[in-house]
Amino acid sequence: MTITESLQVPDFQLSPELQQFREFVRDYAAKHLGRAAEYDSNVEFPRDAVVAAAELGLLRTTVAKEYGGSAMGNVASCVMLEEINARCASTGVTISVHNSLVNSLLGKWCSEEQKRRWFPKLVTGEWLGAYCLSEAYSGSDAAALRCEAKKDGDHYVMNGAKLWITTGSEAQLFVVFARTGPDRVKGISAFVVEKSWAGVGVGKKERKLGLRGSPTTEIVLENVKVPADCLIAEEGMGFTIALDTLDGGRLGIASQSLGIAAAAIELIRSEIASQVDAKGRPTASQADQWTLADLAADLDAYRFLTWRAAVLRDRGVRCSTEAAMAKSTASRLANRAARAAVSILGERGASGATAAERLLRDARITEIYEGATDIQRLVIARGLMA
Ligand SMILES: Cc1cc2nc3c(=O)[nH]c(=O)nc-3n(C[C@H](O)[C@H](O)[C@H](O)COP(=O)(O)OP(=O)(O)OC[C@H]3O[C@@H](n4cnc5c(N)ncnc54)[C@H](O)[C@@H]3O)c2cc1C
Repeated sequence: MTITESLQVPDFQLSPELQQFREFVRDYAAKHLGRAAEYDSNVEFPRDAVVAAAELGLLRTTVAKEYGGSAMGNVASCVMLEEINARCASTGVTISVHNSLVNSLLGKWCSEEQKRRWFPKLVTGEWLGAYCLSEAYSGSDAAALRCEAKKDGDHYVMNGAKLWITTGSEAQLFVVFARTGPDRVKGISAFVVEKSWAGVGVGKKERKLGLRGSPTTEIVLENVKVPADCLIAEEGMGFTIALDTLDGGRLGIASQSLGIAAAAIELIRSEIASQVDAKGRPTASQADQWTLADLAADLDAYRFLTWRAAVLRDRGVRCSTEAAMAKSTASRLANRAARAAVSILGERGASGATAAERLLRDARITEIYEGATDIQRLVIARGLMA
């Protein structure tokens, strides 16, 4: 056996099953995401696209089979989210939050009884999920949250307001992080809160630069009586649960970024390929060709970073550093690629005649949510120094 053979060298290919799944999702995206520009300009929730995704089983990829899921895991979810986001990032973030932030969290941290209670509605898409961590004074510094849950016999009384909640107005199930004690970190607990309960309200809807089809709202919690059996895991586990879940969420947003980047690169490629002289020789400037080459090389590199982190997570290995590397590099690439597409396409890039300007607006948000780029860099540096 040679040294090379004795090493576990991956062949950097998706398995035949995953390639088939990618084709399946591509087909869904081609058939159901054709209205992406309308969702954006009408600020319209992509309900028809989300319903179709649910019918095809795309809202249950991170749920175990015994609870009605397809247990496809994180690599498959990344492949799926890249394809969906290449067509419509508003649909993409809705599915990413539902799968990566809500279903994954419930699957990992909830009791058997809790999973049997909520998964039947979540895997079919009858209910959508939302993840409620951020508040007015608590974004990057999640441990500064103030929403409180006070124990009162067999329930908790919850008061507070969550801000910038993706799918806020459409979701029926909220995972809410609230303070159950004074300690900055150990005083945080996680709960499931259902929209139908008294005191749960949808507040202000944000007007956003991009992802306009994805409703981002305030969730107001006023004297909400939360049954004690809706506490996730144990009191004081909330911060650990929030951060662990964000590792998976960041793989979703890395994949969203790859999808946006791929769509922008394809616009650039077809523009350059169409510039030929009478004899069919390329006439595009060398500068534009270099831009295309660099972006395409980075897309391949950051896709492998993303899949590496997803493989680790599927194996149950902590991947905070790797997920932060994937998200920070992929989200910056999405911005570079979309900016280049707008520049190279000129007025067709800036006017809305092509998807370039929407891609640029959507890309901007990938560097903010689920941990801003500067925070990802801190996570990576801390991981390297640990
Ligand atoms: C479209 C959208 C959807 C969202 N969806 C959700 C959701 O579903 N659920 C949810 O809970 N939240 C959601 N958020 C909130 C999002 O997670 C926060 O916006 C994000 O964590 C950043 O927090 P912030 O906006 O308060 O910015 P801040 O924390 O105020 O940060 C602003 C800037 O300061 C920098 N900064 C902050 N602290 C540091 C530091 N220690 N070191 C270096 N730089 C620092 C950051 O990098 C950033 O550039 C969403 C946000 C957006 C825009």
